[in-house]
Amino acid sequence: MDYYGTEVSRLIESLSGLPGIGTKTAQRLAFHIINMPVEEAESLAGSIVNARKNVRYCRECFTLTDSELCPICASKSRDHRTIMAVETTRDLAAYEKTGKYNGVYHVLHGAISPMLGIGPGDIKLKELLQRLQGDVRELIIATNNSLEGETTAMYISKLVKPAGIKVTRIASGVPVGGDLEYIDEVTLLRALEGRTEL
Ligand code: ZN
Repeated sequence: MDYYGTEVSRLIESLSGLPGIGTKTAQRLAFHIINMPVEEAESLAGSIVNARKNVRYCRECFTLTDSELCPICASKSRDHRTIMAVETTRDLAAYEKTGKYNGVYHVLHGAISPMLGIGPGDIKLKELLQRLQGDVRELIIATNNSLEGETTAMYISKLVKPAGIKVTRIASGVPVGGDLEYIDEVTLLRALEGRTEL
């Protein structure tokens, strides 16, 4: 039986399809939205549609951006000879928040996981190797401290080291299996500064 009427039920159903949103949260969000001023609801809907339509991957580092090159890759004041490989755009955002890293990034969009059937060809690894053909002094591997993250780090370092590029790994101050985005900036900075050569 439909207690809420079609429109409300449809909204709840759409919201509960989002990751981490159960039925209860979806109901709470739906009622919050219904009580918003119409302009606010329109603005929210507009942001969703615009983000979906205009956001794409940076052609250099594959982070999410709304132009061909993201602001970091386009910046002349960044050190383009130092590349930090991260698993996700959220990890990039976490390092940017420290405000202390001046190199550029490469977003792998995942990590190698034989258990889940994710191989080197399923992440942006080929693209990273292509970038490393240019003038690169250091590759910092900042994948998560999980089994998948470590597997990925070892795999990349084996491929890259023979090319004579300095390969470093962030220090293991980062909790095992911890998502980088939930780690505080001090810990993240310590992990970056304490990186060791592989
Ligand atoms: Zn970029």
